[in-house]
Amino acid sequence: MAETDPELTAQWDEKKNGVLRPTEFSRESTRKVWWKGPCGHSWRDGIFRRAVEHRGCIHCEQEFWELLPQLMILYYAGQRGLKVQRGASEAIGMDLDAYIPELGLAFLFPRGHSQRMRREVMVKTYLCQRQEIICQVIPPLNPLETCAAIRRGFSKVHLFIHTDISEDIAVVKLAYQRRRNTADSQQHQKKS
Ligand SMILES: [Zn+2]
Repeated sequence: MAETDPELTAQWDEKKNGVLRPTEFSRESTRKVWWKGPCGHSWRDGIFRRAVEHRGCIHCEQEFWELLPQLMILYYAGQRGLKVQRGASEAIGMDLDAYIPELGLAFLFPRGHSQRMRREVMVKTYLCQRQEIICQVIPPLNPLETCAAIRRGFSKVHLFIHTDISEDIAVVKLAYQRRRNTADSQQHQKKS
């Protein structure tokens, strides 16, 4: 793999892999080794999975899916020049996960289904209603369903989005990865 995948070889974590060398393995090897990404994370994954299946950093991947609702709202709002407030409490006196004042549209992303969480969502929904703010609740769903629910929120204020959901996610993911990698390499440069 040292010859076939120089970019990946650069991510080989020499310290953690000890005596193992990238010259000893082909890109088809299922051997699990340690990687150090340009994002600054360290993780273990199979050579085949990385070289052939192009799997990236598993920590960045997880962060991305957790941030997906926020990122998609920012993406759709940003395309239309709309400002999104995150975690702002001015509108109803309680935090709204995302709020677009110009549209009078709020989004809540309850994490989990605890009774406390359910009660909080009920109170916030009620307070939004009183302020005539449309409140879209996005429960934990798979990525496509999450995006579809976000778009339903926008459609409630007559903003209809017809682009391909999978493509939108791919665009947002690429932008996120780029930002992630450059932000961390800049930090590394500062440190060294
Ligand atoms: Zn990472």
